[in-house]
Amino acid sequence: MSNPILSDWNTPFQIAPFDAITDGDFAPALELALAAHRDEIAAITEDPEAATFANTIEALEAAGSALDKVLSVFFTVAGADSNPDREALQRAFSPKLAAHFSEISANKALFARLADLWARRHKLDLKPEQERVLMLTHRGFVRAGAALEGEASERMKAIKGRLATLGTQFTQNLLADEREWMMALSEGDLEGLPDFVIRAARTAGEEKGQKGPIVTLSRSLIVPFLQFSPRRDLREKAWRAWAARGANGGETDNRDTAAEILALREERAKLLGYDNFAAYKLETEMAKTPAAVRDLLMQVWQPAKAQAEADATLLTAMMQADGINGDLEPWDWRYYAEKRRKAEHDLDEAELKPYLQLDRMIEAAFACANRLFGLEFAPLDVALYHPDCRAWEVTRKGEHVGVFIGDYFARGSKRSGAWCSAMRSQAKFPHVQAPVVINVCNFAKGDPALLSYDDARTLFHEFGHALHQLLSDVTYESISGTSVARDFVELPSQLYEHWLEVPEVLSEFATHVETGAPMPDAMRDKVLKAANFDMGFQTVEYVASALVDLAFHDGAAPADPMAKQAEVLAGIGMPHAIGMRHATPHFAHVFAGDGYSSGYYSYMWSEVMDADAFAAFEEADDAFDPTRAEALERFILSAGGSQEPEALYTAFRGRLPGVEALLKGRGLAAA
Ligand SMILES: [Zn+2]
Repeated sequence: MSNPILSDWNTPFQIAPFDAITDGDFAPALELALAAHRDEIAAITEDPEAATFANTIEALEAAGSALDKVLSVFFTVAGADSNPDREALQRAFSPKLAAHFSEISANKALFARLADLWARRHKLDLKPEQERVLMLTHRGFVRAGAALEGEASERMKAIKGRLATLGTQFTQNLLADEREWMMALSEGDLEGLPDFVIRAARTAGEEKGQKGPIVTLSRSLIVPFLQFSPRRDLREKAWRAWAARGANGGETDNRDTAAEILALREERAKLLGYDNFAAYKLETEMAKTPAAVRDLLMQVWQPAKAQAEADATLLTAMMQADGINGDLEPWDWRYYAEKRRKAEHDLDEAELKPYLQLDRMIEAAFACANRLFGLEFAPLDVALYHPDCRAWEVTRKGEHVGVFIGDYFARGSKRSGAWCSAMRSQAKFPHVQAPVVINVCNFAKGDPALLSYDDARTLFHEFGHALHQLLSDVTYESISGTSVARDFVELPSQLYEHWLEVPEVLSEFATHVETGAPMPDAMRDKVLKAANFDMGFQTVEYVASALVDLAFHDGAAPADPMAKQAEVLAGIGMPHAIGMRHATPHFAHVFAGDGYSSGYYSYMWSEVMDADAFAAFEEADDAFDPTRAEALERFILSAGGSQEPEALYTAFRGRLPGVEALLKGRGLAAA
């Protein structure tokens, strides 16, 4: 019997036939697809002809299409609609996939063909996009260690294996510490806490089999507790436990693990011929060098610290008015900042929500894409993996552009957070394929569904990623859509959030669910102003973490990471009452895997660009300026990874980004 995942998809726009696929189809489909991919790779390496762009690079691009189908369907449902069977499949698939891809990147015969092509690249008469794909493919293999021989190659393999183990260990230690700790609250301890915190504390208590409410180290409980609890002693106890995650001694202590990870990363970078791990890591990023990252972070650090110090003075005065003398401590900041927020721009979520209907916010995101890029969205009736999913056909001037799917509601089978992925990426080789893009969110279901302002921003953010996929216009899939440097990939998404803040967009689409009246201007202004609240604190806790991450990887690996962390914080004059957003023993971004190691800066790097990019529209005095919109599509949204990000950005803006717009946007410019 044929497997529905691997057969031709005779559905509208070749969307995966979810209604015909059962969980039993995944494992056999994966085996067949892996075997097919191995055969395709073998056909390339066994080709008796000398390497050409067509018989090697294009053949690699075309290979693995069955695997793409299996993985896109599987990871869509595993993330957004899981069940115990799918979880078991995921555990079984992940080592298989890791082994499959590392076998390819260690394939000597394949690398010999790539190296040969790379050496002759100037004589191959390649188009710019082809040259780019050759460079990226060759570089990817070199960075994975394909050029290493003998002992060095063996050592590289051992280091990678050990790093994978240590990364998992780091995560599990952290989870163990987070699970372990709890603080029981008496009924009296609940005084002053808002209802939603009390409810969350009671639920947490029930889940842990306790008699009464508790505080745990889950961010969604401890942060509001620190924000609202008037009990300074309890706040201190909770904050200290939160800050000590991964550094409690014993089995789950992450400090030695962190040191070993850093040493192995340095060794790995040196084996590959780089000065240190940061140099290795940043080579593929827009930032390129540790110096460029540090320069950017320090430009933001000074004004952020000045703002935080001014805020600390104010909060200290509020604390003293409560009859507490002495220094403002890290467990005091959120509490007094919350009091200040209430006093300065009290914004009642309950009053705001009726104006933010999910359907109208989707309409708003579509309408902005229509005004900017001429895209049109028509509902599409097609069977998807869950009844909550909705699909639209995206067209422009009557031409099919792609399919957009939205899966917006939270449910137990969905992992937390929000994301965008391409179920199929745009490409023109080996044949033209239009993108199928999905946004997955975790909004509360309702009839009609109402959003918080943060939710609405998330919706625009993920839709910005979707546009990066939908408007992609390149030949090769490996550089399509969001296949760009990590410090560039958040530009389209963060940039798109700015259109939600355009006053006329809120006025048109934020209408009251019962009366249909537009959001009052005063409320709108409050919403926009509140977004900048406590930015000194937020910027300081983030930049401090990013600077420590960079210091860990730029230069010799520190034998004692905690001493290095202390040295960096002392060097920048970290304000006393602010902790790092992520301290070393629980800095999962940096130690749980390689993703954000010496890359934690990239959130801010992208924010510098999105602020600077949106300023182009502000300078034109028109958020929908057609010339800028056209340039944004041409140089950024359609270009994928076809050129270096700095070249793309410069083509769009006429220059590289500066930090001024970011500081202004965060309200730090005057500080
Ligand atoms: Zn994003």
